[in-house]
Amino acid sequence: MHKLVEQVKEAGVVGAGGAGFPAYVKFDVNVEILLANGAECEPLLYKDKELMLHFPEHVKKGMELVSDSVGASRKILGIKAKNHEAIGQFRRVFGNSGFEIFEMGDYYPAGDEYVLVYEATQRLIPYGGYPVDVGCVVSNVETLLNVANAAESKPLTEKFVTIAGAVNKPITLKVPIGTSAGELLRLADGPSFDGEVALLEGGAMMGTLVTDLSSPVTKTTGGYIVPPREHILIRRRNQSLPEIKKIGQSACDQCTYCTEFCPRYLLGYEIEPHKVMRTLGFAGEKADFWSKFAINCCECNLCSLFACPEDLDPKQACVRSKVNIRVKNLPYTPPDRPLAAHPLQADRKVSIKRLTRKLGLMPYNRPAEYTENGFQPKQVVLPLKQHFGYPAVPLVKTGDTVTAGQKIGAIPKGKIGATLHASIDGRVTHVGEEIRIESA
Ligand code: SF4
Ligand code: SF4
Repeated sequence: MHKLVEQVKEAGVVGAGGAGFPAYVKFDVNVEILLANGAECEPLLYKDKELMLHFPEHVKKGMELVSDSVGASRKILGIKAKNHEAIGQFRRVFGNSGFEIFEMGDYYPAGDEYVLVYEATQRLIPYGGYPVDVGCVVSNVETLLNVANAAESKPLTEKFVTIAGAVNKPITLKVPIGTSAGELLRLADGPSFDGEVALLEGGAMMGTLVTDLSSPVTKTTGGYIVPPREHILIRRRNQSLPEIKKIGQSACDQCTYCTEFCPRYLLGYEIEPHKVMRTLGFAGEKADFWSKFAINCCECNLCSLFACPEDLDPKQACVRSKVNIRVKNLPYTPPDRPLAAHPLQADRKVSIKRLTRKLGLMPYNRPAEYTENGFQPKQVVLPLKQHFGYPAVPLVKTGDTVTAGQKIGAIPKGKIGATLHASIDGRVTHVGEEIRIESA
């Protein structure tokens, strides 16, 4: 195993966004192009922008290490053209050393791997495939920073997060992994309204609803949006499946807008959410037939939260159909035609401005500047599974004293997983599905 692959494995580095794919698996390949993903696209979240602005040397170091390890001859940073200041920083640190900067428009979902790979290289990932299938490795800029740290034997114990939306002071911070969402809310000077607070972990579009403020920041938490009270984004996520089904069944007029704006459809893949909506009216074989038009869905939510004029939920219909396909193990054969982007792909991109307006978040679109405040929580909660693969095996027991950076969870033998490290000094107070540590 290459030295870097060992180092990122030991440091517990996983993809800092999405499903948290272990970096030691992802980087154990040979490819032509390393694509650094700095194309952050969730409205109001600015942690990658702030990280790139303040730590360009670390991102560059990570890019160098990974490109050497995977044998990449090209190193490309995908970043939105609107981030002038960060681009200026990268031009300075990259100099003439062979790095490329690919400037992107401000649209959603620019950070989706399929979209980024296509835009930067004009290559389309084959059906069900990965960037490696077209000679690329894509790595988020925070993951690359963590790689640079791993090469200096610094394990992954901290996370960059933005907390924005209806808060008094939107802010981007670096906090110990395991810090609670409630602590972050406090660091953002609290909500700007009275009453119960719910948060969207991961953003307005793809985030999940968090109502338990003790839930912890994990290795994949990109940030939290606090929607105003009774906001549509909360109501939509609280809708039950039978409700979604009943409304969708009666109100979908098959206008096809959901399909026309779908980024995967526009890249040429077989996906047509308006057809998936037909599954709501059927069961059995007929539903199975229409389900196949969901299989290439990346769950970006654009169809439900932007495109549909009736406020229906085609994304949820796709999620449901994908479960149906998996449970029944239904066969899928991609269409027998070469993959090619739709002629209107470039024109149909949805700008972040339009999207933010549609989501009713314009009043909350404020900077969330990075602040280094050295915050140390009194307690952290570290789930044994914060990544793709198997949960870590605990290496400590209740009552043990640990120091920040100490390895407290190991990858199960012969499985894919991630090591886990204490993020603060303290005493272990609980070992179960998560390890709790109270500061000394
Ligand atoms: S956009 Fe809405 S109404 Fe139109 S086809 Fe899609 S789900 Fe149906
Ligand atoms: S969530 Fe909707 S818009 Fe996004 S990929 Fe799936 S079907 Fe397409």
